[in-house]
Amino acid sequence: MFETAIAGSLPKPDWLAETQKLWPQWKAEGAALQQAKADATLLWIKAQEDAGLDIVGDGEQSRQHFVHGFLEQVEGIDFDHKVKMGIRDNRYDAMVPQVVAPLRLKGRVHAFEAQLARAHTRKKLKFTLPGPMTIVDTVADRFYGDRVKMAMAFAELLNQEALALQADGVDIVQFDEPAFNVYMQDAADWGVKALERAAQGLTCTTAVHICYGYGIEANNSWKKTLGEEWRQYEQVFPALARSSIQQVSLECYHSHVPPEMMKLLAGKDVMVGVIDVASDVIETPEQVADTIGRALQFVPKHRLFPCTNCGLAPMNREVALRKLEALAAGAALARSRHGDGAAA
Ligand code: ZN
Repeated sequence: MFETAIAGSLPKPDWLAETQKLWPQWKAEGAALQQAKADATLLWIKAQEDAGLDIVGDGEQSRQHFVHGFLEQVEGIDFDHKVKMGIRDNRYDAMVPQVVAPLRLKGRVHAFEAQLARAHTRKKLKFTLPGPMTIVDTVADRFYGDRVKMAMAFAELLNQEALALQADGVDIVQFDEPAFNVYMQDAADWGVKALERAAQGLTCTTAVHICYGYGIEANNSWKKTLGEEWRQYEQVFPALARSSIQQVSLECYHSHVPPEMMKLLAGKDVMVGVIDVASDVIETPEQVADTIGRALQFVPKHRLFPCTNCGLAPMNREVALRKLEALAAGAALARSRHGDGAAA
């Protein structure tokens, strides 16, 4: 009960890449960089295990950014001529590569880090991929001229990699779709369909993560414009509830998301965000357990997975480590409060 996991990313150590940046520069190249990525991956697996998490991941140590890490292995994308583009409905500008030809995988994308992680932990392993709609929102299209068509093309490639990750021994494949919270109607109309295409044929657990973004300035100011109640999930969850995706990861603690939104996910596992990634203040176990308690009004015990609100990539490393410990300690406290042996 209350198996814990992180959303996906963790801070990169300062010997691997620039710290506290969303698109950090690597500190090494070639074989030295590969070794540094491997070292950082193992270090974070150990840290997640030591913190007491039940489901672990590679912390996305091998990719510069959660979307572009995938795109680097896709043929038909021009990385040499990046262009400035407003992403997430112009919330912030990013330098993005351009789609210039039909898309095809150059080969495996994440075999190295997935196999490394699998070889070094007996815990359940979750692996994250960007979702098709979020990819489409993080790349400039000079070829397809149609967002849905391009999303479906990316979904096919994601599916190839997801099936290969499953063969590597990954237990949970999670697609990250922050764009669902920005283009809610599109998400319901075709985003969920593209997501299902990406997950087609998987027999491991499938998940989607939908959040209000990393704890960076642009996102924090955007959240201030969303009003007292954040009801974006209301438009997307019904379509997800009807989909084949098994788990949904959402933002909860310190957000303005009405907790009853979780009711819309009946029949799904819910990864409830109980750790704030936009604040360096470490949650207490009581705060984490209280958040779990509130979510229990809307999510059955056996379907509730305590999680972080989003990735921890741009955070301070020490703070991230303390937050992992808070997550595990809070879930343990919640188990003693709500487990079969609990008083009430
Ligand atoms: Zn997120």
